[in-house]
Formats: sequence, structure tokens, C-alpha cells
Amino acid sequence: MDPVGVAAAPDAGPGPAWQSKCPWGAPNTTSMSCSLADVMSEQLAKELQLEEENAAFPEVVAVAEGPFITGENVDTSSDLMLAQMLQMEFDREYDAQLRREEKKINGDSKVSISFENYRKVHPYDSDSSEDEVDWQDTRHDPYRADKPTTTPRRGFIGKGKDITTKHDEVVCGRKNTARMENFAPEFQVGDGIGMDLKLSNQVFNALKQHAYSEERRSARLHEKKEHSTAEKAVDPKTRLLLYKMVNAGMLETITGCISTGKESVVFHAYGGKSTTEDKVIPPECAIKVFKTTLNEFKNRDKYIKDDYRFKDRFSKLNPRKIIRMWAEKEMHNLTRMQTAGIPCPQVVILKKHVLVMSFIGQDQVPAPKLKDVTLSSEDMKKAYYQILNMMQRLYKECNLVHADLSEYNMLWHDGKVWLIDVSQSVEPTHPHGLEFLFRDCRNVSQFFQKGGVAEALNERELFNAVSGLNITADNEVDFQAEIEALEKMNEDHVQNHGKKLSMFSSDGDPPIYDE
Ligand code: ADP
Ligand code: MN
Repeated sequence: MDPVGVAAAPDAGPGPAWQSKCPWGAPNTTSMSCSLADVMSEQLAKELQLEEENAAFPEVVAVAEGPFITGENVDTSSDLMLAQMLQMEFDREYDAQLRREEKKINGDSKVSISFENYRKVHPYDSDSSEDEVDWQDTRHDPYRADKPTTTPRRGFIGKGKDITTKHDEVVCGRKNTARMENFAPEFQVGDGIGMDLKLSNQVFNALKQHAYSEERRSARLHEKKEHSTAEKAVDPKTRLLLYKMVNAGMLETITGCISTGKESVVFHAYGGKSTTEDKVIPPECAIKVFKTTLNEFKNRDKYIKDDYRFKDRFSKLNPRKIIRMWAEKEMHNLTRMQTAGIPCPQVVILKKHVLVMSFIGQDQVPAPKLKDVTLSSEDMKKAYYQILNMMQRLYKECNLVHADLSEYNMLWHDGKVWLIDVSQSVEPTHPHGLEFLFRDCRNVSQFFQKGGVAEALNERELFNAVSGLNITADNEVDFQAEIEALEKMNEDHVQNHGKKLSMFSSDGDPPIYDE
């Protein structure tokens, strides 16, 4: 490793300067071809996001292009982090070498040995599962060369002036060289074994110390591999992001996993100390990690593809970026809700696909979902009116439709309802916005009607009360047909005039219900 290149990298900044100094050569940035305008808009979006992040938490968002994680923005502001990233990179290269050696040794043999336990980066760390090998003991290697003859108990061999003691430099040196074999196979001792190498005690002891500490490091990793449950859920890049947040002091500790969904994993963490005066980090935080495996997100296309706020960007983004956009959407939507005074988690920071927000609950126990809590009929009624009020404010003041509103995404905490999970929320003028709203209304109506709230409006009444529209159809089929017709009208208008109809926001403000 070239220490000059390494040291120079963070200072050189994101220009081509570091590329020439980068010990691993130029990073593999696979960029998609697009027009200048595309580039501009994406940059703009990135800048805006950065601005927002900087305002939110300036000390942890210093972004510099570094050579350490290919194609990623990495924070190289801290030396420790730099060292860790280097270590990660080194470990990966090292493992590749180990795999090659393992292959060489095993060849076509029916009995194979595995270096699995000596790897630095473990299968759960990496995206590919092809690396996974059954664990086998490698410590009793039948192929190991015979040990050289040792000095007998009495401490010397030979007679007269030919006596050599166990302290003899040559014997000792050879013995030391042979002993190097006892180091774990991960430990590089060169190809000196088999040659007549004589290793001084001093050198041998230093090597031994190093070999042991390496072994311990490896053992620690294995312990983690077996015992960690929370960390299993995230990939190394995410872990690095989380680690950086802890390292920056923003989070005190990440205590564990609250929820593992199809699209996200949510962790609980204790907030750290903010170094900026204006930003108070909540004592307890929820970290929502949007999963970077894409399968589940495919069927969410419809929410974002047609959301004009993200439309231009959607078509040309790679999947990883699309996932980040979900996180970004959740952040923006939560911020809007916060501004409107709707009870919801408060955004702490967004980093790539990881969103940190305030924790709804206490002492690591998340507030129960509305579906899991048994409320008195009085509280039930109170909750209903509160939700009606929130839906209206969400629509009118935030210009949003939740689009996944149900008893699953409402938490009961501090005697009131909190809305969560708004990454899929859209503006009412979204081509399917009104359909989503209708679905939300149906969920809410059904839940409260079943829950015995006599005052609960039916879904159609609720829809009109929230949207301020006056759809008169008295059955669901006709009602939905009217909704779709309205959406179509809006869409046609957009096609012809290039902007949204104003009817959804200004035409006939809906009455705001108060509790
Ligand atoms: P998903 O898309 O997986 O449904 P959610 O945002 O609904 O993601 O989060 C999943 C679960 O995690 C929620 O049902 C809730 O129990 C918990 N959770 C999410 N955010 C918070 C938070 N800010 N405070 C407390 N618990 C939360
Ligand atoms: Mn949810």
C-alpha cells in the first residue's frame, strides 16, 4: 500500500487528482449516458439534498469522493474512518487472495479444506452468497510438512566440541521458521517454509504476536457473525453509514432491530450529542434502512414513477438511486407533516438510503400500532377525530395523500395517533392520487366502524370530507369511476397545458374538522 497516495487522497478532493494517486487505480464509475440537462437536474437535486443535510447536521455530511469504496461518496473527514475504510478494502482484497489459495490447495480433491474461518469479510457482509462455504476445521492440516527434529529433553545434542544446545542460533532459527507454519493460514509468511531459513527469536516473537492479534481479530468477527442479529439485516455499506453516525457522535448506540419489513428494516438507537446548537437530537431515534435489494420495490414503481416531483429523475436512475429516493421522499413528506403540526416522527438526518428520525415510543419499546392496541371507546372516538383532522391537514396543508394509511401505519403514543411510513405518500394530483386517497379512506372507515365508532363516516363521505371534492355517487363503483375520471381530466390537462389543475388545492377548501 502506498502511504503517500493514501494520505493524499482526502485532501486532493473530488477532482481527478486523487485518481492518479489512488493505490487501486481509478474507481469503476459506471455512469449511464444521459444529456447535459439530465446531469444538471440530478446534480441540482443532489445539491439541494446536501444543503438540507448540511443544515440539519453539518459535521457528518462532509462528502468527498474517495477511492476506497468504488463509485460511492464517502466521508473522509475522519482519520479513523479512513483507516477503517482502508481496512475494509484490504480485507476484501485479502479474502480474494485467500479464496484463490483455497482453490489451489483443494484442486480436484474430494476432501477439501476451507479457509472460511480466516476470512476477514464474512458472507453476511457481502452481497453475494456464492462465497459461502461450509465451515471445516483447518487447524489439523494432514498435508502439513513434518516438523524438523527437536532438541531432546536434556537440552543438547552431539558430543564434545560438536555439542549444540537448544539455544544454538542456527537450530533456533530453523525451528522458528518451521514454527511459522503454526500460524493461521491467513497469516502471510512468504514461501520461506521449506527453505533453510533461520529466523531470529526477536523476529519470530514479533511475528507471533502479530499472528495472534490477527487471529483474535478474526475470532471477533466470527463471534459477531454468530451473535449479531441486528447487523445481519444490513449490508456492509449500510453498516458503514450507521457506524459513521455513531462515530460522529450523532447516535450513542444502536440497540437493535424494531421491525424487518419487506422494504425496510427499522432500528432503535439512543441519540448522541449534537455538536450544533440549533439541532437537538432526540434521546431515542428510529433508523429506517431502506432495503437495497430491489425485488420488493419493483411493485412500488407506480407511486414514484408518476410523481412529477420525482418523474424526471426516475427514468434515468439506477436501482440504488431509486431506493435512495424512497428515503428522500419519506424525509420530505415527514418534514411537510412536521411543519403542519401533524404528529409524526421528526427527521434527524438522511444519509443515502438510511433515514434517522425521532423514535415514537419509550425506553426502546416502540409505540403500539393502532391495530395492536385496545382503546377505550372514548379513546377510539378521540383517535378517529384526530385521524380525520390529520387526513385533512395532510391533504390541504401538506398537499399529500398518505397512500398506505391503515391501522398498521398509525401508532398510539402519548394519548394520540402518530402517522408513520410516508415514503410512498404522493401529492393529490398524482395520476393515482385520488385512488390512493380513496383506499386510505376505506381502511380508516372500516377500522373505526368495526371498532364501534358510531360517528365514523363511510369511505365516500370521508373521501369528500378530506378532499373537499363533492362526488355524489352513492355506491362504490360509481364513486370510483368518478375518481378515475377526475384523475384522467387532470392528466389530460397536464398533457395539454403542462401543469396541474388547481382544482385539487384551491377549489373549495375542505372544512377542517377539529377534535
Ligand atoms: P415498513 O415500510 O416496513 O412498513 P414502517 O415505516 O412502517 O416501514 O416501519 C416499520 C415498523 O417500524 C412500524 O410499524 C413501527 O412499528 C416501527 N417504526 C417505524 N418508525 C418508527 C418510529 N419513528 N418510532 C417507533 N417505531 C417506528
Ligand atoms: Mn409500515
